[in-house]
Amino acid sequence: MNQCPTRTSDINTTCPYCGVGCGVTMSAERPDADTISWRATGTGDHPANQGRLCVKGSALGDTVQQGQRLLVPEVDGQRCDWRHAIDQVASRLRTVIDQYGPDAVAFYVSGQLLTEDYYVANKLMKGFIGSGNIDTNSRLCMSTAVAAHKQVLGSDTVAGCYDDLEQADLLVITGSNMAWTHPVVYQRIAAARQRRPDMRVVVIDPRRTATCDLADIHLAISPGTDGFLFDGLFAWLVKHGHVDQTFIDHHCEGFDSAAAESLARFRDLAQLAETCAVKREQLETFFAWFATTERTVTVFSQGINQSSSGVGKAAAILHCHLATGRIGKPGATPFSITGQPNAMGGREVGGLANQLAAHMDFGNDRHHQLVADFWQTTNLARSPGLKAVEMFDAVHDGRIKAIWIMATNPVVSLPDADRVREALKRCPTVIVSDCVDQTDTLACADIRLPAAAWGEKEGTVTNSERCISRQRAFMVPPGDAMPDWWIISSVARRMGFAQAFDYQRPADIFREHAALTGHQNGGSRDLDLSGLSTLTDADYDTLVPVQWPVSREIRSGTARLYADGHFFTPSGRARFVSTRPSLPARRTSQDFPFWLNTGRIRDQWHTMTRTGRSARLLAHIEEPFVAMHPEDLLASGLREGQIAELQSPAGTIHVPVRSDAGQQRGSVFVPIHWNDQFASAARVDSLVPAITDPESGQPEFKQVPVAVRSAGCRWHACVVGTRRPALAANSLYWSRRPVGELEEYRFAGNAQIDLAAVKSALAADADNWAEISDPAIGHYRLTGYRDGRPVVWLAVAPERPTPDSDWLTAVLTGHADADPLAVCLGRPLHGADSSAVVCSCHQVREQAVIGVIQAGQRDVAGVGRACGAGTNCGSCIPEITALIDRHHNAAKEAP
Ligand code: SF4
Repeated sequence: MNQCPTRTSDINTTCPYCGVGCGVTMSAERPDADTISWRATGTGDHPANQGRLCVKGSALGDTVQQGQRLLVPEVDGQRCDWRHAIDQVASRLRTVIDQYGPDAVAFYVSGQLLTEDYYVANKLMKGFIGSGNIDTNSRLCMSTAVAAHKQVLGSDTVAGCYDDLEQADLLVITGSNMAWTHPVVYQRIAAARQRRPDMRVVVIDPRRTATCDLADIHLAISPGTDGFLFDGLFAWLVKHGHVDQTFIDHHCEGFDSAAAESLARFRDLAQLAETCAVKREQLETFFAWFATTERTVTVFSQGINQSSSGVGKAAAILHCHLATGRIGKPGATPFSITGQPNAMGGREVGGLANQLAAHMDFGNDRHHQLVADFWQTTNLARSPGLKAVEMFDAVHDGRIKAIWIMATNPVVSLPDADRVREALKRCPTVIVSDCVDQTDTLACADIRLPAAAWGEKEGTVTNSERCISRQRAFMVPPGDAMPDWWIISSVARRMGFAQAFDYQRPADIFREHAALTGHQNGGSRDLDLSGLSTLTDADYDTLVPVQWPVSREIRSGTARLYADGHFFTPSGRARFVSTRPSLPARRTSQDFPFWLNTGRIRDQWHTMTRTGRSARLLAHIEEPFVAMHPEDLLASGLREGQIAELQSPAGTIHVPVRSDAGQQRGSVFVPIHWNDQFASAARVDSLVPAITDPESGQPEFKQVPVAVRSAGCRWHACVVGTRRPALAANSLYWSRRPVGELEEYRFAGNAQIDLAAVKSALAADADNWAEISDPAIGHYRLTGYRDGRPVVWLAVAPERPTPDSDWLTAVLTGHADADPLAVCLGRPLHGADSSAVVCSCHQVREQAVIGVIQAGQRDVAGVGRACGAGTNCGSCIPEITALIDRHHNAAKEAP
């Protein structure tokens, strides 16, 4: 059943990646009568991005091709129609509930879902099944901020907006590599900085990242000491009288005891500097700036949240802002920036196991009655459900007997990921809704449900600044794929809840959600969308971005909250709480001497189900990696490109090594994205122990003690062609990526390679071969020809082969001619450039950028004019700046 025709006019929708929530305009292009492709541009009047897009958003058109999709429902390996699939899901859930009770089933959902999907999932589980067991992957990124907001502010409210980040005179960025993770907000800040050079930026991060390019001060703290830093800042502000006593007296409670606690812990700046392993002078300057700059914004993200003491850290940040009265004012506010496109929408409907619905709480009788009345149910859950890590523990030990996973990939993204896979294999009923046909989690499913993808769904999302935007469909879902709200509602109806789930369209759900937020609200709750509860279908279709609260009185939305000093606690006052800073739960040791930090890279998203399809996005960083300080590399006997083995008590991975002087000594970084679909053993979360913050349940992903050593690979191989050769069995490591119309495979290993077997595996592609072999030095090159044209290429060497993959792909697909020797070498005989891609939009490589810098270009604009790099989305500007520093400024300083 198709939901909408493929549209050919421009359509305004919202980017499905990060929490910036950029407006995207999708335009159809028809190169010929049979082909339609899509081009993404930034929507000029969307408040989040004002026309900008980062490289991921710019490449959205590359990722909407409808190959590799789950097209038909499958039950126990058999394809079936929706009627049978819905019957099976409903009856298996019902059987478990009848036999073991409602807490024996669970939903694990996602910040990728739209608010309407989320709302019906939460309503079904909490309202009608009667269990709190619905949790979301937002638990892994934002639940700490939620818990801190609720403790301190009384509600889960981000007080400010993106404009504040531009208007601040002091911007503190902590635990976020925004240049890569929230690129458009970073670009807005960079532009503001250019307009107002007096604006100061302090970056707090153990790593020197691209974000540090903007920093006046980079506080490269010791891993996990950020809680001490902000607790110390709070104490220092109090000690030196830099507090807004009037604001505290009129609008806060608990200040005296929290201040006394922090002061008791704080001795002096020298001691704090030692704890955090930073220079005392740097700390003193930062504190003095914070004390004297009225317009100060502190942006915090996963580096704060993903910690076993994250709630205390986030609360300490909020304390510093409350103590100075800087909250919800233009250019003066704490600002939690979310990771996912709709983490906020999920929080709003109650998608976390410890929330009820619409920012109402378990344990509050009035809220319970209000939601039960509104949903007209007698079965509303009475107590919170299991949080993500607890939920999969319960699956592992058999307390949960049926789990429905929607739009997420916990076998890759949860800590102790191997145990999560084991849990799903043990579970009697695993239902997975997804839009792609292969993920590490789908491999564990008994029932596979084809969901509509971004570009095929209608609904809303909320970004980090509380801005609700429409996501609009411009394509027809392929096969039998259906929107998640339809799938969930159909199951609910089949379970006997027809009246409560009689939705015809997403607008019906949105109106109901908006009405619930306003139900008997009267200003008592922060989340109020009552001004949107009477939208007609046409109004919903044309809804323009708006920041909540959107009450009946103020329909234009609200940019900031709390400037009036009213908070959503019972007393109406913000609360200073006990923050108890502490070090990471696990410590490095002789056996596990390195701190592992995990996070995102610039051009990939989550577990690569979308971005991994784009050759352009996999050109910037082609493979999984571990980044290490050059001296640690040397000390570990490793070289750039070699395969390292990383081990923790939870698991082992194998990834190539990258030298990175931005890493502290003793700390390594591995991206979160790669999984079994793209590499042999690179799921970094299989190394992460399942240790969580006790209040938020958020796992500690940022400080994991690991061992790093050489995997001892004796050979490396690279294949460019259409199929994976039979090298995987002999290799310790493989990875793959798309290059143009082909795939590039990388292998490394230490077992003997059977080259004859490899050649025979590639034989289906070729009818003739050209080989160069030098066994003495372990080099082998093979080109396969069909009908006289090269079609497949293989290189084996002791070191990582470095073909010019773009050139080679053009040759192998008949788009370019080349000398046979050049083909065998994998690069043109003259002028090859296999350096890293810097600008993904224009595919400009590092050597080209260095060339124009050496030819005299001294700034980013000049480099852009000369070679195009950095002139589209701007995500690569920090890298271009670093190259200018290295190659122009270094040349200037040379004697
Ligand atoms: Fe999408 Fe990039 Fe905007 Fe994030 S910053 S919403 S990834 S375009």
